[in-house]
Amino acid sequence: MSRFEYDEEAGQRLHMDVVHEMDDLADSGSNWVDAMRRLNAIDDPLARRLLALHRDCGSGSGECDCGDDEPGERQGWGCETTALIASHFGVDY
Ligand SMILES: [Zn+2]
Repeated sequence: MSRFEYDEEAGQRLHMDVVHEMDDLADSGSNWVDAMRRLNAIDDPLARRLLALHRDCGSGSGECDCGDDEPGERQGWGCETTALIASHFGVDY
């Protein structure tokens, strides 16, 4: 004979996970800072020079920004070059 019980602990865990996800979304500014910190840990001379060149991308004044985009709204890594370097070195945003 089997019993079914509501797993209260799992339910609470799930609820906390959902809340955590929403916090992450609201806090995307510091996510970018954390991501940049991880990028800065890359110890490859060429990658570091490219990253320095593309540091302002996505902010409206970077190497890859054409000026038509709304400044101040960063989307992900800012540009494809930065995203490529990040994925090559296994850096998550
Ligand atoms: Zn760029």
